[in-house]
Amino acid sequence: MSIAIYPGSFDPITKGHLNIIARAAKSFDKLIVCVMVNGDKQPMFSLEERVEMIRRVTADMENVEVDHSDALLAEYAKARGARVIIKGLRAMSDFEREFQMAIINHKLNPGLDTMFLTAEHQFMYLSSSVVKEMGHYQVDLSDFLPQEIIPDFLARIQERN
Ligand code: ADP
Repeated sequence: MSIAIYPGSFDPITKGHLNIIARAAKSFDKLIVCVMVNGDKQPMFSLEERVEMIRRVTADMENVEVDHSDALLAEYAKARGARVIIKGLRAMSDFEREFQMAIINHKLNPGLDTMFLTAEHQFMYLSSSVVKEMGHYQVDLSDFLPQEIIPDFLARIQERN
């Protein structure tokens, strides 16, 4: 069975992430979307909330599983029997860091390769942090966030104000 992992912080999941998930899921028997715990960041949504939101928006994708991990990605991939990591590339600015991580992950786990999917043009500018900034203004978010999670996002912005 071919298994790939799509790791990230997904704080929250955007339409750009969802587009990568839908495209990657077509190429593997199973795609594991894994929310990676990143100690440096103060997230907007808890780990459990992020996992639940991703489950909600991928509910109709049968071969997509959602998980979370605080392990090293190379170790997590080995434990899950995955040979491929999926990364989305938006602009050159993503490239250098992702190239470095791909080489390190391959060194840590030689059975693991990273495959890159380019962002579709309408999502090239989209990141969770840009959406968080826009949340403070009365902007229509439907081009940026999956419809199902917009109420969660707006409620969290309100709580924080
Ligand atoms: P961000 O906070 O920048 O959205 P994440 O850590 O949640 O970042 O991103 C996880 C993965 O998704 C990374 O490989 C990132 O490059 C990719 N990604 C994020 N946004 C997009 C997008 N709009 N289009 C394609 N790939 C994306």
